[in-house]
Amino acid sequence: MIIRQFIQKVCFTSSFTVRTSSLTTSKSGLMAFALLALASIGSASVALPALAQADTPSTVTISDSDLDLYRTHVSTLASDKFEGRGPLSAGETLTVNYLVEAYKALGLKPAFGDSYTQPVPLAKITPSGDMALTLGQHTFAGGSAFTARTQRIVKDITLKNSDVIFVGYGINAPEYNWNDYAGLDVKGKTVVMLVNDPGFASKDPDLFQGNAMTYYGRWTYKYEEAARQGAEAVFIVHETMPAGYGWGVVENSNSNTKFTLVDNNKNLSQVGVMGWLHLNTARTVFEQAGLDYAALKEQATTPGFKPIPMKVKASLTFSNTITHAQSLNVAGVLPGASAADEWVMLHAHWDHLGKSEKNGKTVIYNGAVDNASGVAGVLTLANNLVAQSEQTPFERTLMFSAFTAEETGLLGADHFAKNPPIPTANMVAFLNIDGMNVNNAVDYILQYGEGYSSLEDDLSATAAAQGRSVKLDPRPQNGLFFRSDHFALARQGVPSLLFMSLGDTDPNFIANRYHKADDDYLPSWTLGGVQQDLALIGTMMSNLANGQQWPVWKRDSDFKKKRLIDRPEAPAAGLVETAAETAESEAPKQ
Ligand SMILES: [Zn+2]
Repeated sequence: MIIRQFIQKVCFTSSFTVRTSSLTTSKSGLMAFALLALASIGSASVALPALAQADTPSTVTISDSDLDLYRTHVSTLASDKFEGRGPLSAGETLTVNYLVEAYKALGLKPAFGDSYTQPVPLAKITPSGDMALTLGQHTFAGGSAFTARTQRIVKDITLKNSDVIFVGYGINAPEYNWNDYAGLDVKGKTVVMLVNDPGFASKDPDLFQGNAMTYYGRWTYKYEEAARQGAEAVFIVHETMPAGYGWGVVENSNSNTKFTLVDNNKNLSQVGVMGWLHLNTARTVFEQAGLDYAALKEQATTPGFKPIPMKVKASLTFSNTITHAQSLNVAGVLPGASAADEWVMLHAHWDHLGKSEKNGKTVIYNGAVDNASGVAGVLTLANNLVAQSEQTPFERTLMFSAFTAEETGLLGADHFAKNPPIPTANMVAFLNIDGMNVNNAVDYILQYGEGYSSLEDDLSATAAAQGRSVKLDPRPQNGLFFRSDHFALARQGVPSLLFMSLGDTDPNFIANRYHKADDDYLPSWTLGGVQQDLALIGTMMSNLANGQQWPVWKRDSDFKKKRLIDRPEAPAAGLVETAAETAESEAPKQ
């Protein structure tokens, strides 16, 4: 049924009759694809000279027929029929089948043994409403004054007269010579901490990465570190500027149903309570404890800051409704000719927000830019590179993937990274597309994070060959490098790069369409940006697949540490200084 729908969709698009035949006979289909792509070479499109690092010069061009294919993929995936591609919905079934059929048609091999899909075990946890948190003499209402949830797979969470300690930023970072937990035992206790990191607060370029957020500034890190320290509960004090989003985003993201991965120990090694405090709540509690919040915040940015017991106790109970289900990651590979066990990976998350009922009406979040545009980009490049390999096979294996549940916390990517089909040591690089520029071409390419890996140098050289410059993320304080699927691979040591142009060329996108029902496909999209960016990404892929070099991490980080354990022979590159830029903006996603 699903396959039939896929074929019909392709059949009725006049320019893809070739594609249809590839669904029926895969061998000749592959040849047809190759001929289609070959025919396109030399047409008016973006061409790139080869990079110096590659052993075999390579050029990837994106032709008009590539763009026609792209348009078919993006308009299909973003159509109402796909119901906003919500994990565990009918939209997931349609999307996953569409992807699997597309990979098969391209002649890609399954990435997971004999399967194109990898099951991702998810728990769906809904905390009870009407929570109340008692801190000292005051009791606060859940939602407006605080949020609390858990990822432990347990029915009830109880915090009773737990000691509360202010731990500054809650950071333990040996490479920055910083430990907010030094000499402190927080076992079973409640820790209160600030959002972001001391570099952002002080704007001191010598503290952490200055204004640019490090991973130590992300809320995910703060919960992880508190768990390593043995704390029972964490409350992060919300402030709009350092968080990068308002309280409404915190409340929405933490009060409702959330998905989580489930480990062998029912996530019991995580903290019991993952909480946030509204700034007013924090001020009230600090005042009651005879502490000056503003002064302590200042102190917390100073090296050698000592945690402060707050002389109040915390109490909170809530229960959880938990259901279990499996979602699917999808991936296919084009095996390399001489180094098949070394993988160069191109990825885009397939999931979006699904649909919901509002006032008796069904609202579908089609997620056309976020991230049907990226998935269509991966499929289009897969088609292009498969055709290229018919002429000259790539030395290394190319993997093309689409993972689930990115929007709910990089869950599919995290599961893949921790349960990889090949050792992470054999993964050469992971390139991630999350939101393409569907409008006109631009004379720059956006880069997220700075000074992390040598992939940034490849990006810069490839962009320069296109006559483009690299433009650094204008909002480094929002830490976008830590907020899309490539980060899950980076944490396992795999050099990774993010390609994101979420509304960069459309000033109204973030305000009116991002994560809203109006992120729809528009026939008026010119795809100039898609054409130049796919040429750039394809060229990088091609060079990585034919070169002998392994990209390396530069700046000291946990990613680099992990890689050096995985691949001790890998050369270590020097530390690269960063120059952060300042800009203020809301990022609606937490
Ligand atoms: Zn996205």
